[in-house]
Amino acid sequence: MAYTYDPTNIFACILRGEIPNKTVLESTHTLAFHDIHPQAPVHVLVIPKGPYVTFDHFAAEASVEEIMDFHRTAASVCTMLGIAPGDGYRGITNAGGNGLQEVPHYHLHILGGRPLGRLVERA
Ligand code: 5GP
Repeated sequence: MAYTYDPTNIFACILRGEIPNKTVLESTHTLAFHDIHPQAPVHVLVIPKGPYVTFDHFAAEASVEEIMDFHRTAASVCTMLGIAPGDGYRGITNAGGNGLQEVPHYHLHILGGRPLGRLVERA
């Protein structure tokens, strides 16, 4: 089953400049900004500018340039915010219903600044 991108999602609005954001870093194909409801002292969302719904959608269909730019931007964010090298961080991406993905535009959460506990809750 193919993904269908919803251009009305909140991150698409941010990319079109319709909603403000606190930008950490912007590059050709990628935007990194602070999460509006931070779960840790550092909580940044890294998103591709292209219309990708999930990690697997992005990994399967984005161009080499987009994939390279996304990861280099994420790495720069970690360095800029002092979490790597340093005390460390967690990268999380939620997908679909079981992943409890709220916004259907691929995003990598980068969390740090405190010990983050276990990876997942027991069901
Ligand atoms: P998900 O559950 O889809 O992995 O995470 C979506 C994230 O987007 C949440 O952590 C939520 O706080 C964040 N978020 C939702 N709306 C906005 C917004 O308008 N601006 C920003 N900066 N973050 C948002």
